[in-house]
Amino acid sequence: MNRRPGRRTWSLAVHGGAGVNRGEALLEDRAAEIRAALRDVLAAGARLLERGGSSLDAVEETVRLLEDSPLFNAGRGSVFNARGEIELEASVMDGRTLGTGAVAGLRGIRNPVVLARRVMERSPHVFLYGEGAAAFASAEGIEAADEAWFWTAHRWKALEAARRSPPAVPPSGEHGTVGAVAIDRHGNLAAATSTGGLTNKWPGRVGDSPIIGAGCFASNDSCAVSCTGQGEFFIRATVARDIAAAIEYAGEDVQRAADLAVHHRLSALGGEGGAIAVDTAGTVAFAFNTETM
Ligand code: ASP
Repeated sequence: MNRRPGRRTWSLAVHGGAGVNRGEALLEDRAAEIRAALRDVLAAGARLLERGGSSLDAVEETVRLLEDSPLFNAGRGSVFNARGEIELEASVMDGRTLGTGAVAGLRGIRNPVVLARRVMERSPHVFLYGEGAAAFASAEGIEAADEAWFWTAHRWKALEAARRSPPAVPPSGEHGTVGAVAIDRHGNLAAATSTGGLTNKWPGRVGDSPIIGAGCFASNDSCAVSCTGQGEFFIRATVARDIAAAIEYAGEDVQRAADLAVHHRLSALGGEGGAIAVDTAGTVAFAFNTETM
C-alpha cells in the first residue's frame, strides 16, 4: 500500500509467511480469513503512516497485531517445538540509525516484537536470548501471557503430524511467520519480523527471523526487508542483507535485488521461502520460491 501526495511518500507492506502447504489443509480453508486479517493490519499501519507516524511505529504495530492473531505463526498461534513448547523470536531494525533489537528462545511474552524494540531502545545490546530476555522483559514491564494464550489446535495437530513423519532437515516449512517493511513521510525505512519458528524444531533452535541480515534488515541507504521460509537457508544466504547490498553496491532495483537473492542465491542452496522489501523511493517488491506467500 502506498501514497504519494506531492513529495511526501509512504509505503507499507506486510507478509504472513511463505510455505508449501504440506498437511496444512486447515490453514488453506482459512485463506480468506488470513487475507482479511492481513488487510486489516495493513489498514491500521496505513492510518499511522498517513498521519505522519514513523515507519518504526508502523512495522512494530502491524507485526504486533499479527502476533495477536491466532492465524499466524508468531506470538499467539505459534508452532510447537519438539518438546511441545512454543519458543518465540522477533527483530526490528531502524533504517535511519541502523539501530536494531532482536529476541529469541522466548517463552510467555505476548508480543516479541515489542520486546525487540525495547532491546533496541533501552538496552546497550542488540540481541537477547531465553531467560535473560525474559528477565529484561519483566524489568521493562513487557506484557506476559500464559501458555493457553499461545496454544492453537491446528499447530498442535501439525506437531503430531510432524512427529509421525520421518525427520526433515530442516523441519518442514509452516505458513505464518509475519513481517512488515515501511518507509514513512520523513523518508525513514524500518523492518520487523516475528515467528514461532518451525514445527518440531529442536528446543533452542534459532532461525533467521531474529538474525539481522538474514530475516530482517533496514537501511536508509538501500531498503527495508523482511523474510520468511526455511531459516537455516536464509541465515546461510544472508538474504535480507544481500537484497540491500545488491541495491547499495550494484545499483540493482529493489525487485531485481529481491529476485536475485531469492531465486538465485537461496534457490541455489536448496532453500524455500520469500521476502518483501521497500526501497528509498517507496517501491515495494516481493519474491518467493514457495507455492504460496
Ligand atoms: N523463517 C522462519 C524460521 O525459520 C520460519 C518461517 O518463516 O516460516 O524460523
